[in-house]
Amino acid sequence: MKEKDPNFIPKLEKAIEQKYGDIATRNPSHFWNEEKERAYLEQLKKENEKPPEYTTIQSEGFFIKSKLFIKAHQRTCPECGKYSFDVKDDLYMNKYSTCYKCYILYVEGREEKWLKKKMA
Ligand SMILES: [Zn+2]
Repeated sequence: MKEKDPNFIPKLEKAIEQKYGDIATRNPSHFWNEEKERAYLEQLKKENEKPPEYTTIQSEGFFIKSKLFIKAHQRTCPECGKYSFDVKDDLYMNKYSTCYKCYILYVEGREEKWLKKKMA
């Protein structure tokens, strides 16, 4: 066994410094200050105030990320006022802003006209 060089770490640091500059061997706290700490905490606070994106909701036996889940106000059909949790209604609600029943009643066969009306 070779004897351990007590200067191994300082030598290593020196070598790293020569290759990458002294920024590579500085203690990270050297680059931190109260201003940065304050900004970081502010950022953290904002992040925590956001609605959780990855809360999972169980639907039809699947877990879905909440941000992919249709919002409550989109669950009420503006045509008939029906509130629905039916996934089938979600599809029509997303595309035509109506529930499935209203799609059949008012939209089917005149999709283009309907979407133009919605856009106007
Ligand atoms: Zn409806």
